[in-house]
Amino acid sequence: MQNTVTPTHCPYCALQCGMHLTPAPDGTVEVGERADFPVNRGALCGKGRTAPAVLSSRVRLTSPLVRSGGGALVPASWEEALDRVAQGLGRTRAEHGADAVGVFGGGGLTNEKAYALGKFARVVLGTSQIDYNGRFCMSSAAAAGIRAFGLDRGLPFPLEDVSRTGCVILVGANPAETMPPALRCFTGLRENGGTLVVVDPRRTRTAEQADLHLAPRPGTDLALALGLLHLVVAEGRTDEAYIRERTTGWEEARAAAMAHWPEYVERVTGVPVPRLREAVRLFCEPEAAMVLTARGPEQQSKGTDTVGAWINLCLATGRAGRPLSGYGCLTGQGNGQGGREHGQKADQLPGYRKLTDPVARARVAEVWGVDPDSLPGPGRSAYELLDALGTDIRSLLVMGSNPVVSAPRAAHVEERLRALDFLAVCDVVLSETAALADVVLPVTQWAEETGTTTNLEGRVLLRRRAITPPEGVRGDLEVLHGLAARLGGERGAEKGFPTDPEEVFEELRRASAGGPADYSGITYRRLAEGDGVFWPCPAPTDPAPTAAGTSGSTPPTTAGTSGNGAPGPGVHPGTPRLFLDRFATEDGRARFAPVTHRAIAEEPDEEYPVLLTTGRVLAQYQSGAQTRRVDELNAAAPGPFVELHPRLAQRLGAAEGDPVAVVSRRGRAVAPARITTAIRADTVFMPFHWAGEGRANTLTNPALDPTSGMPEFKACAVRVEAVRP
Ligand code: SF4
Repeated sequence: MQNTVTPTHCPYCALQCGMHLTPAPDGTVEVGERADFPVNRGALCGKGRTAPAVLSSRVRLTSPLVRSGGGALVPASWEEALDRVAQGLGRTRAEHGADAVGVFGGGGLTNEKAYALGKFARVVLGTSQIDYNGRFCMSSAAAAGIRAFGLDRGLPFPLEDVSRTGCVILVGANPAETMPPALRCFTGLRENGGTLVVVDPRRTRTAEQADLHLAPRPGTDLALALGLLHLVVAEGRTDEAYIRERTTGWEEARAAAMAHWPEYVERVTGVPVPRLREAVRLFCEPEAAMVLTARGPEQQSKGTDTVGAWINLCLATGRAGRPLSGYGCLTGQGNGQGGREHGQKADQLPGYRKLTDPVARARVAEVWGVDPDSLPGPGRSAYELLDALGTDIRSLLVMGSNPVVSAPRAAHVEERLRALDFLAVCDVVLSETAALADVVLPVTQWAEETGTTTNLEGRVLLRRRAITPPEGVRGDLEVLHGLAARLGGERGAEKGFPTDPEEVFEELRRASAGGPADYSGITYRRLAEGDGVFWPCPAPTDPAPTAAGTSGSTPPTTAGTSGNGAPGPGVHPGTPRLFLDRFATEDGRARFAPVTHRAIAEEPDEEYPVLLTTGRVLAQYQSGAQTRRVDELNAAAPGPFVELHPRLAQRLGAAEGDPVAVVSRRGRAVAPARITTAIRADTVFMPFHWAGEGRANTLTNPALDPTSGMPEFKACAVRVEAVRP
C-alpha cells in the first residue's frame, strides 16, 4: 500500500472538491483539506468527508457474481464472469442483431471510462443503443446551451465569478444541500454587495439566504422567465446595442414574451406581479448579472425551452458573453460534464461531436482505426432505451448507474430489466440494479484508480490513485479490455482498449482534437502540476478550427490564465471564460429561442389533485448506492419522507412522522410525513435516494422533452393519503 499524501478529488458531485487522502496503517483512509484547490478551498461536505467509508464497506463486492442454476448470485472467477458476459451479449448480437444489445453508462464515470465505453459499444458491439444516466441530469441545459450559444459547457466561466457579479438568479438549485462548499460563492456575492434571487417551489436552505425568493408552482418556470422578459421589455431595460450586435432571433422571442402578460404569469405561477418586478429590478440594475439553472427548470418535459427562456432573459439584457455575466448550469453528477463529451451519449462522439456529422465520424473513425460507415447512428435516449428492454433490446451492460432507483417510472423500469435475456452490471456494491443481474462485476473506486473528470466549470481534473484496490476487484477499463478480447473479432480487439488510463486519455485527446470539447492540449502532466485545465484547450499543432467548430473562446495566449497550471510558451492555456468575443455559432451570434409557456404533461385533476416534485437531501447522493452504505450519512438522512404543507396535512389528519402514501398513475410510495410551511400547499416533495416502498421514482412521469429526452421528474399529479394502521 502507498502511504503518502495524495491530492485528489471527491467521487461525488460536479463540484469535484479537492481533498488529500492519506492511507492509515489500519487500512482506512483519512481525508484531509486541500486548501489550495480554488473550487472548494479546503471545504468539504459530509458526503466528501465520509467518502472513504465506501472503500472499506463491509458490503463492498470483491468477487464477481454469476446467477446460478438455482437463481442465486454466487461467487465466480473473473474468467468465468467475463466469459458469461461475452456469451450473453454475443448471443443476443448473433440472434437479434447488434442493436438488440444495449449499454447504459453513468455521469460518475471518468472521462477515460466514458470514452472507452462509447468506443466499446460502437466498435466492438456495433450497437447504436448506448446512453447514460446523465440524460436524467442536465441534458435540457445542454440542449438549450447548444441551441443558443453553439456550445454546452455547464458554466462558461469559473465558479469564482459568481461572488463578483451584481446579481444571480438561481433557478431550481439548492447548493446548500447539493454542493455546500459552493455556497461560499453566493454568500460572497452578498458580502460584496450583490443580490441573490432564488426561484424554487420550496423555501430551501438556499432560498432562506436569498434577497428574494420566488416560489412558482412546479413546472411553470418557463412562464416565470417569460414574465420577467415581458417586464424587461415593458420597462425599457433591454440592451439594444448588444441585441443588434451579438444575437439573432430577437423579434420572434420578444413577440413570444410580450404575449405573456405579468398578470397571466402571476395566475400560472402563483408569483405576485410586484415580486416579478422586484426580480427584474435586482437583475437589471447592476452592471453584471447571471442566471444559473439546475434540475428544477431542466427536469421537465419542456426543459430545453424552459432553460431557453432564461437564456433569452440573459441575452435581452446583454448578459451572456460579458465579464462576470451570463448563463450557466450547475451540473449535478461528478463527471456530468465530461460524461457527456466523450461518446457515451446516444447522439455524440468524443470531443462533444455530433454522431450525425460526417466530418466528425471520419475523424473519430480514423483514430479508432475503423471504417466510418461501420459506426452506428444515434440510438435511443436513456428512458427510451430502458423502456425498450426485454423487447427491442434483449441484453444490457450497465456501468456506473442504478436505474432501478434513479429512473422515472422506476417500477416499470425494474420490470423491463427483469424481462431482459441477459443483464451484466459493473458496480462497487450490490445495488438494486446489480441485484437483478445475471453477472455482477466488482470494480475499483475513485481512490483506487487514476483518471480524469471535468467539473461543472469545464475544468479538467486529475483524480489520482491513492490506495491499492482490494483483491478481487478490477477497473472498468480492465472489464472493457477483457470483453473486447472476447467479443472483438474483426470489429476490434483488446488492443484498442488499453487498461492504462493515461493511454486511454492520450487517445481521447486525439479523438477530441478540433471538436467543440477539444482536450488535445491537455496532458496528465499538466493536470498533475496545476488546478486543472479548462476546455477547449487545443494542442499547438491543431489546425485552426472552422467557424462552425469554434468554441467562442479567446485566442490562444499564455496571458490571463486561471487555474491552468503553468503552460509553457506556445501552449494553449485553456479557456476559463467562453464567448467573450463571439459565440460558438456559425455567425458568432447567440440565438434567441421563440419559446412560449405550456402546461406540464400531467396536470392535477380531481383524482390526482396535488403536485409532486422530487430532489436531493444534504447527506445522500443520487441513487444512494454509495452514500446509503455510510453509517454517518444514514444517521443524518436515514430514509425517505414526504414534505407537505400543514394545510394538506390537516386535511389528511396526518401528524409529523405519520406514514402517508403518495399515489400517481404509475404507482404508490409510502414515507413519513414531514410537515413544513416551506413548501407550497398544492405541492409535496420527496427525495429520490431510496428504493423500496419509499421510492420516489415509482411515481415520477417519464414524459420526455422532445429535444433533450429529459423526463419530467420535477412535476406530476399525485394524491396523498393517510396510511391508517
Ligand atoms: Fe464532494 Fe460535492 Fe460534497 Fe464537494 S460538495 S465534498 S464534490 S459531494
